[in-house]
Amino acid sequence: MALTLSKRSEQVKPSSTLAITAKAKELKAQGRDVVGFGAGEPDFATPKNICDAAIKAINDGFTKYTPAAGTNELKEAICKKFETFNHLHYEPNQIIISNGGKHALTNIFDALLNPGDEVIIPAPYWLSYPEMVKLSDGVPVIVYSTKEQGYKVSAEQIAAAVTDKTKALVLNTPNNPTGMVYSKADLEAIAKIAIEKDFYIVADEMYEALIYTGEEHVSIASLGKDIYDRTITCSGLSKSYAMTGWRVGYAGAPLEITKRMSAMQSHATSNVNSIAQKAAVEALTGPTDEMVAMKAEFDRRRKYMYERLTAMPLCECLEPEGAFYAFIDFNEACEKSYKGEKIGSGARMAEILLNDFDTAVVPCADFGYPNHVRLSYAISMEQIEKGLDRIEKFLKSL
Ligand code: GLU
Repeated sequence: MALTLSKRSEQVKPSSTLAITAKAKELKAQGRDVVGFGAGEPDFATPKNICDAAIKAINDGFTKYTPAAGTNELKEAICKKFETFNHLHYEPNQIIISNGGKHALTNIFDALLNPGDEVIIPAPYWLSYPEMVKLSDGVPVIVYSTKEQGYKVSAEQIAAAVTDKTKALVLNTPNNPTGMVYSKADLEAIAKIAIEKDFYIVADEMYEALIYTGEEHVSIASLGKDIYDRTITCSGLSKSYAMTGWRVGYAGAPLEITKRMSAMQSHATSNVNSIAQKAAVEALTGPTDEMVAMKAEFDRRRKYMYERLTAMPLCECLEPEGAFYAFIDFNEACEKSYKGEKIGSGARMAEILLNDFDTAVVPCADFGYPNHVRLSYAISMEQIEKGLDRIEKFLKSL
């Protein structure tokens, strides 16, 4: 057969965070006592008031198409949240509601990129960004940061990566996988470069509600009109409302960009599930006590995890400031041997931990750091304790 498949699909790798999580679940189903530090998925149930709003939507027959970019009711709730939490003013027609943060991002790249356009991605990066950019015919340009820099790239590094093909920069704060948070001063310096060199900012603020240092989340688009005009601010309900399966993400952008994203979405998927949109309205406008409690619990786990990890041999990690991940530098451990063979990489460590210690972790080659591993602390404290005991046992055996 001489038929071929697309070049675009050929260069895209499947998501390893989802693959690892699926593998851990499969092993659990086979009866193995696996601790899953894999995907960043809150272990909490979606709050009852949100579920009740969805049930009410079904009972009320709110089960038909909505406008492709989302209901006005939800857009208005998102505008209000942007206003109060992010200090950003968007009109409802500047908002698009998509099937999770991922879909919002793919819409954004589709709206911005022409073949060959470059997108600067600071590393460590969430593994889907480079693949998304490639799917939109763009070219990812990775700029690396070090542990000594707090895993944050500087404005100078970004400026040095700009070429005449640069179209956008992806900015993810709080960051997945490092948990690091860019300060207002960091963002001001980056905004200045974006304005001077004339490129867009794709601001992925999915973890905005999960900062544990007392610092306020700063949206880069809120720093002035020039940067607002070139920023697409993207977020979603998955992480802070324990709503991963509902698939509600959104973006606020200059009108011209939202219009294009909405037109594309109207052909690709139409609206986000009508019932999930009603649930999202309740999440954004209803009581917040459960969100506050979830955040406090994440913080408790974060502190425990950091304390345990830094006391382990061969394990280096910065204290995460936000999101729910610990990013571990295993460079030293990778030099050691296990069962007579050099470990060599985070991928091999993850394999050993899963096969011999029933512990699923995310190797970070796909996040730009082959000798690093990511642990999610969006699992119960009991599971965290058990998993860390196993990792410690493994490291002590080296
Ligand atoms: N964003 C989460 C993570 O990094 C969920 C899985 C995924 O979409 O990659 O674990």
